[in-house]
Amino acid sequence: SHVLVTGGSGFIAIWTVYQLLERGHKVRATVRSDDKGKYLQDVFKKYGDNLSYAIAEDLEKEGAFDDAVKGVDAVLHTASPFHFNVEGDPKRTLINPAVNGTRNVLSSILKHGSNVKRVVITSSFAAILDSTRQGHIVYTEKDWNISSVENVEKKGKDQEAPDAYRASKTMAERAAWQFVDENKPSWDLVTVNPPLVFGPILHQVASPEKLNTSVGFVWGLLHGSKKEDDLLAPAGNCVDVRDVAYVHVESLVREDAGSNRFATSLGPFVYQDVVDVIHNDSNVPAEWKKQVPTGKQGAGSSVKQNELDGSKASRVLGLNYIELKDVVQDMVASLADYEKRG
Ligand code: NDP
Repeated sequence: SHVLVTGGSGFIAIWTVYQLLERGHKVRATVRSDDKGKYLQDVFKKYGDNLSYAIAEDLEKEGAFDDAVKGVDAVLHTASPFHFNVEGDPKRTLINPAVNGTRNVLSSILKHGSNVKRVVITSSFAAILDSTRQGHIVYTEKDWNISSVENVEKKGKDQEAPDAYRASKTMAERAAWQFVDENKPSWDLVTVNPPLVFGPILHQVASPEKLNTSVGFVWGLLHGSKKEDDLLAPAGNCVDVRDVAYVHVESLVREDAGSNRFATSLGPFVYQDVVDVIHNDSNVPAEWKKQVPTGKQGAGSSVKQNELDGSKASRVLGLNYIELKDVVQDMVASLADYEKRG
């Protein structure tokens, strides 16, 4: 089949494009510049015409996706800002692009995507986790983030960036389910809800500061951003980018995946777990190891924190999660490779 992937230049999207091409699908990716489109075509040149790209510069511009959706059988909407530099008003920089962008893509499909049978949207654990809830909670697809959305009105411009990002993802996902309710389109919807996504990079990264947010955290760790005392702080849940890509692709091809949310999560982690892998890995450059605190090997397993239950994705989609050791080793190896390339 022919699949449109929005934001094809992103960390998660490019792995999804790769897995689609490997499985023999045709892919059209939207990107914001020719340069990013050409990069994709270069990385995937062995797939020839099975990959094409279209420019959609502004998520919020009405009709921006009208042409891109024509003729495709499925749409995978991943483009959305994930950063914490709000520059003034988080509504303008985070929330509006996420929410209006989602509505915009769905409207284009309704008008011009007559072949589309399924739409998969990259949502997030951010749309599930509610930071005002007390205790150690095991979150599932049934849960929704309420408080971040309330804060959009309550705090306005003072809403802190991480919370505004969480609101953006919650409101965008809500808008998508609502769109389906109201318009009863001929396609059905799936959302993928990952926590922090780690793993190797394949996308174009102009400079280390431009690394996507989640991999940027580990780049920081490798360059001295964490101290001994930080290692046992609850760090959230994580998952490998290749597993997130798998869930996007598998959600497209399995009939019974429709109308579901899929939490895609390996489980909770702390940075102690990550540094244990780094210090035991002989391939990690010595100059990086020097900047990574050691902490107390194995101590990470004693930390209790909220969990995102990723078992439904295994049950319904047959996902076998990549274990943390491989997530971290492959991520650090790809970053070492990136640094070497300059
Ligand atoms: P990236 O920053 O690598 O990808 C974001 C993609 O969205 C890029 O293609 C980017 O284009 C595009 N984009 C961002 N802002 C805009 C905008 N205003 N207008 C048009 N396009 C825009 O990060 P990820 O791959 O991690 O993010 C992909 C999706 O996954 C997002 O929806 C994010 O919320 C979600 N997600 C990510 C998690 C993570 O830990 N990485 C966790 C949970 C969900 P460009 O390349 O041109 O900047």
